[in-house]
Amino acid sequence: MKRRRPRIVIVGAGFAGFSTARRLSRLAHGAAEIVLINSTDYFLYVPLLPEVATGILEPRRVAVPLAGTLPGVRLVLGEADALDLDRRRVGWTDPEGHHHDLGYDRLVLAVGSVNKLLPIPGVVEHAHGFRGMPEALYLRDHITRQIELADAADDWHERAARCTFVVVGAGYTGTEVAAHGQRFTDALVRRHPRLKFGERPRWLLLDVAPRVLPELDPRMSDTAFRVLKKRGVQVLTGTSVAEATEDGVRLTSGRFVPTRSLIWCVGAHPDPLVADLGLATEKGRLIVDAFLNVPGHPEVFACGDAAAVPDLGHPGEIAPMTAQHAVRQGKAAARNIAASCGHGTRRPYEHRDLGFVVDLGGVQAAANPFKVPLSGPVAGAVTRGYHLLAMPGNRVRVAADWLFDAVLPRQGVQLGLVRARAVPLEHTAPEVPAAPRGGQRD
Ligand SMILES: Cc1cc2nc3c(=O)[nH]c(=O)nc-3n(C[C@H](O)[C@H](O)[C@H](O)COP(=O)(O)OP(=O)(O)OC[C@H]3O[C@@H](n4cnc5c(N)ncnc54)[C@H](O)[C@@H]3O)c2cc1C
Repeated sequence: MKRRRPRIVIVGAGFAGFSTARRLSRLAHGAAEIVLINSTDYFLYVPLLPEVATGILEPRRVAVPLAGTLPGVRLVLGEADALDLDRRRVGWTDPEGHHHDLGYDRLVLAVGSVNKLLPIPGVVEHAHGFRGMPEALYLRDHITRQIELADAADDWHERAARCTFVVVGAGYTGTEVAAHGQRFTDALVRRHPRLKFGERPRWLLLDVAPRVLPELDPRMSDTAFRVLKKRGVQVLTGTSVAEATEDGVRLTSGRFVPTRSLIWCVGAHPDPLVADLGLATEKGRLIVDAFLNVPGHPEVFACGDAAAVPDLGHPGEIAPMTAQHAVRQGKAAARNIAASCGHGTRRPYEHRDLGFVVDLGGVQAAANPFKVPLSGPVAGAVTRGYHLLAMPGNRVRVAADWLFDAVLPRQGVQLGLVRARAVPLEHTAPEVPAAPRGGQRD
């Protein structure tokens, strides 16, 4: 009797899951059935989302189609919502609400993360996060709308509030959003005669840490701070939000900032599917050993933001939530799964930091490839080159948008397709718009 091929099911096609699938398909040569379950039909290149939100890139540029990109991998569109580790079955709901399930011989959990919440009054109701495509589309429209409504307003206070944007969290996400945001609103204002000669839009970037980019090399923080300051972004370190209301935010310093825009970039929390498993976690991430294996379940692997992977370079710590780690963990998981099926030998996950890039808009960036600190246009070129190389597709389209942005004015139109209620901060699947709940301001 012919032996059935082992079935490997990967949940999540982000940085970790995509690279697991790609590496496995190369290693397996058809000897295993590889199934990839994902909530969207594309791989989202998250690091370029700030450029989508600020009108530089069209959204589909950062959405690399899964179909045709992963030969030998069966794609399943849906949200995994039922994992039975004892019976080795995974269940999912497709976009039309139908339930399905499938058995597996090996399972990879690479479900990523969602917005991290903090118990601050009013934040869940009035802030918007920045994890997925719907939030980026919403923010692009929202910013545009605020400038248009400010132009139409007769009341000076309303105009000032609508032209004020508060970003909480000065990690790489918040820093990029504020840096790009200031340039975007400056460009929008130039088209609005009543605002053109008035007050310039204000961007505030807050963090409780003493410097921007607190988790990165201090030399990158210095570069980013210099660029932000020169651009006019107000950086408030040692400061957070004490309360958010419909009309503005009260800072921990006691100051009240009138605004209609609170952008929440305080970090990420592992996808709720992890907590539902009832397995051991660290900081909400699923505990795995150095081989990306879930203890007690040799057939289950986890990687990326959802997994607490030991950082062998820093004993006692777990690897940070970055795309760089997620990609490499995905490859390591693939190698170790192949080893568990009798092909090759397994190896622990080890990764040497190759540096980081932070795009600050225009020709500015802060980068430290191989620990060499770079700033200005050189860093800008390295950053864009890095992103083009790291993307698994759509490179020409992205480069074309960058070229258009360099020579043409920014397009200031809102399509209004993603409303505020579709992107609540407290959302378990930031990759897809939420079902209407009502009650939130558009
Ligand atoms: C705005 C922003 C900018 C960033 N910039 C950088 C950067 O410059 N450099 C860097 O190294 N890191 C950056 N990061 C962090 C980086 O994006 C994450 O660490 C990385 O995406 C983690 O990869 P992942 O595969 O674990 O998760 P993700 O890339 O988030 O992928 C998770 C996938 O799982 C799918 N999924 C989730 N739940 C389910 C489910 N139940 N069923 C089916 N599918 C599911 C999702 O649709 C998604 O496709 C940035 C993050 C953000 C938000």
